[in-house]
Amino acid sequence: MTNHIAAKLDQIQQRIVEAAEAAERDPATIQLLAVSKTKPVSDIVLAYEAGQRHFGENYVQEGVDKVQSLQHLSDLTWHFIGPIQSNKSALISKEFAWCHTIDRQKIARRLNEQRPDGLPPLNVCIQVNIDNEPTKSGVLSDDIAPLADFIQTQPRLLLRGLMAIPKAQPDPIEQAQTLSNLHSLFDQLKQKYPSMDTLSVGMSADLAPAITHGSTMVRVGTDIFGARTPKTK
Ligand SMILES: *Cc1c(COP(=O)(O)O)cnc(C)c1O
Repeated sequence: MTNHIAAKLDQIQQRIVEAAEAAERDPATIQLLAVSKTKPVSDIVLAYEAGQRHFGENYVQEGVDKVQSLQHLSDLTWHFIGPIQSNKSALISKEFAWCHTIDRQKIARRLNEQRPDGLPPLNVCIQVNIDNEPTKSGVLSDDIAPLADFIQTQPRLLLRGLMAIPKAQPDPIEQAQTLSNLHSLFDQLKQKYPSMDTLSVGMSADLAPAITHGSTMVRVGTDIFGARTPKTK
């Protein structure tokens, strides 16, 4: 019997296929990252049983607890997608395969130093503040190249691409403009940094326009696992 999360995953895969085909892209070039923050391990197991293998977490301790309790599922790939405090970087570097939210050299240096021997390099994306919103994390467009140059000098980091969280519910024309700017930025950087193959953009609400504008990894939480209750700390 299929579970409710399996049904949701099917719907998302369908939306990915439709958006990709409308953009004349191969749907296989778009990866689905299931964002399981605040959701119980049992939900992750249901998604796993439905074939989902990539999961994203936002809060370090919660994420590490989940990684450790699901260690027996050895083909899971864990992505850290939350803001990084430098005193938590070691946990991220030890427990995750990917980190999408590098926004400063200090964090890149720490993640590199703290990546354990014997693990492959940590796959990293630079978080871009694509709307130039002062309250948002991420680097401005002009600051990407210096950070990318630094990451390339770090042997335990592998620069995979860019990540962005565009403004919620923007005007569709503005949204298309923002996504298209991000896409051209990504295409330019890929020329200079050949290890870049990932544009991490698109969530439940903007999955289709993100795919239209070149996303290679959509990060979906709500439309797979349901609404989240606000986190109480
Ligand atoms: C929570 C979160 C998501 C998932 O958002 P939904 O709207 O629930 O799909 C994606 N990316 C990041 C960085 C997030 O924090």
